[in-house]
Amino acid sequence: MAILPIVEVPDARLRETAAPVPEVNDDIRAIVADMFETMYDAHGIGLAAVQVGIMQRIVVIDLQERELEEGEPREAARDPHAYINPEITWLSEETASYNEGCLSIPEQYAEVTRPTRCRVTWLDTEGARQEAEFDGLMSTCMQHEIDHLNGVLFIDHISRLKRGMLLKKLDKLRRG
Ligand SMILES: [Zn+2]
Repeated sequence: MAILPIVEVPDARLRETAAPVPEVNDDIRAIVADMFETMYDAHGIGLAAVQVGIMQRIVVIDLQERELEEGEPREAARDPHAYINPEITWLSEETASYNEGCLSIPEQYAEVTRPTRCRVTWLDTEGARQEAEFDGLMSTCMQHEIDHLNGVLFIDHISRLKRGMLLKKLDKLRRG
């Protein structure tokens, strides 16, 4: 396993469409393992393969929402899920807003409005077809990560004015 370098804006790879995974095999499972290691190291809750420069339709998510018992290490709350070739098959009309961030746009956050619920199909790490409906933070995170596979970033969902301000702040942060 390895921690991979995270691709950040304005890297052009973040604007490309990722290719479907033709077969779930050991190579793909190795990528998934590296993606989890990279995501945990960066304290993220979701990561798309394009964010580590792998142009394939792979997403990992772990909201790590379980409350820790006293003395339990942070790792005990881990609940890793991998989604290969995920596809949104339904979105609710009802919408909700979350303050979103992204490992490819460091330390910048903005309120993003998306459908509250989504239905998704995907392949698991054994190559079996899965389907589920998500709501709350999981729905938001899933839509955010699938956007990455299509070259879309959360800042595309906010106003041009807010996007400009956010990118300016990022520029300032990088220049120290
Ligand atoms: Zn992101």
